[in-house]
Amino acid sequence: MPRPNYNGFKRTLHPLLCRFLSAKKNPPPSFHPPRGTHDTFHATNRKRRHLERLLQTTIEKHGVSEIKTPTFDHRSLFDRALGATTDVVSKEMYSLDHTDPPLVLRPEGTASVARALLHQGTATQPHLWPCKVWYSGSFYRRERPQKGRYRQFDQFGVELVGCGTWMDDVECIMMGHDVLQRLGLAPYVELRLNSLGDQESRTRYKETLTEWLRPYMDELSDTSQTRIRNGDVLRVLDSKRPEDRQVMARDDRPLMSHSWNAASKDHFEKVVGMLREVGVMVDGGEEVEGEGEGGKGLLASNPMTMVHDEALVRGLDYYCHTAFEFVVKESGGKQNKKNKKKKKSVLGRQQGTVLAGGRYDQLYSVLSGGKHDVPAVGWALGMDRIALMLEELEEDTAESLWPLAPVKIAVLPVGDKGAMVCGGGGGGSGGVPAAVLSTALRIGHGLRNCGEGDDWDVLTNNDVGRLKQQMKFANREACEVVVLVGEDELDQGGCVSVKNMATSEQVQVEVGQVVEVVRKMVSRSGGRARW
Ligand code: AMP
Repeated sequence: MPRPNYNGFKRTLHPLLCRFLSAKKNPPPSFHPPRGTHDTFHATNRKRRHLERLLQTTIEKHGVSEIKTPTFDHRSLFDRALGATTDVVSKEMYSLDHTDPPLVLRPEGTASVARALLHQGTATQPHLWPCKVWYSGSFYRRERPQKGRYRQFDQFGVELVGCGTWMDDVECIMMGHDVLQRLGLAPYVELRLNSLGDQESRTRYKETLTEWLRPYMDELSDTSQTRIRNGDVLRVLDSKRPEDRQVMARDDRPLMSHSWNAASKDHFEKVVGMLREVGVMVDGGEEVEGEGEGGKGLLASNPMTMVHDEALVRGLDYYCHTAFEFVVKESGGKQNKKNKKKKKSVLGRQQGTVLAGGRYDQLYSVLSGGKHDVPAVGWALGMDRIALMLEELEEDTAESLWPLAPVKIAVLPVGDKGAMVCGGGGGGSGGVPAAVLSTALRIGHGLRNCGEGDDWDVLTNNDVGRLKQQMKFANREACEVVVLVGEDELDQGGCVSVKNMATSEQVQVEVGQVVEVVRKMVSRSGGRARW
């Protein structure tokens, strides 16, 4: 009996099977960005760039200069600086594989700035103080992603290094207020302020609070119980867990301010006094006793309210004395014009902190093994949260921070004779004569370099098509003016057409006059959109 011939079957099945098996073993990548991260595109990026530039120019007016540090740094730096038991260090850092010494993606900026200034020597030479720097970039924490909380996020930060007076705290806070005011967000945030006191006061308060919490240990969350056992009792104060909040809300909870020694009390009162002096008003919370009168002076037109928040401790080990946060006010965004209801902010309570910082006098000493004692104070602003707030504000009030969008002008070669065959003759792209293409290139170059700078974006479409296709492109890109370069017009006296897309007005002009005609058309066109 003849053997069946399976060759044809094998030939077709075998490659399919191989492909199936290899796809199972080595699946194609997902197109989703990794959890807690985002891809961002043109309009968003343009806004971000503008936002960053505003922050930079505002801060540089205070004589602060830029510092850049690597996006990854030594794990031991953050272990030491932030404290091994903090959430950031114990569970949120991304380690890089197989690195010796171990490296992590930076979770925050202050520790890296301190390392850089110690390495460079500025921080170690008091005659070079004060050293005031700003930084901007991406940071990484493995947190549970939600609105305003991401695994890769952008911060803009300021560090005033070698700055040990209470007045430096005031300056630092005022810089924070300055940038928020520049962004038009000052009326929607309030300053929450506390003092962790000096080492002596803090140790005393930790003992008092631990003692007070002893009878309630079983009622606290497991995380808080562990923190207390690890000597990190202050973190229980800002725990968001309902069971912890219930205990901490008891009337007899000891207050941090009752543990301040005279120096700590004096430092805090001076900061508050000066803030009041320049017009920051005390609001709600536990009233702060300070000098001076509120509501006048520097901030008269942009009042800022301040709350003494005895529970504000900040998450990291290195803070002492002044700690502060700018937080979105409870009522969130402005009144909604249409339904007159107060809109809730897009940022929930937990993500409501847009800028936060404080004094950290021990950090440099901790990092240098006690060799360098460098007082410092600083803050970091969350760019993603600021961007969300700005979006909300724009929706509610139509107030916009963004400048007018550039005018879009298209310079489009047109295949008048419909010779749009791929690889066709004539020496051009798709059959369009080279003279048409080179004229379009020259006009585009002329428009881009005619001195209108940032105001004009000059687009082109090289997939040269018939007139209809090119106009479709111009419409899709929302171009305001279109320059059509066609073979016939060029042949008959070196002309091209310039069209105002809003009015459909179209004129034929010589190539040398295009820039002038476009300029006139643009100046006549109506209001431009914002980004
Ligand atoms: P921190 O370094 O934790 O003091 O944070 C400073 C500021 O950065 C906060 O007030 C937030 O505005 C922002 N921020 C911190 N963590 C995140 C995150 N995971 N996602 C987005 N923004 C963040």
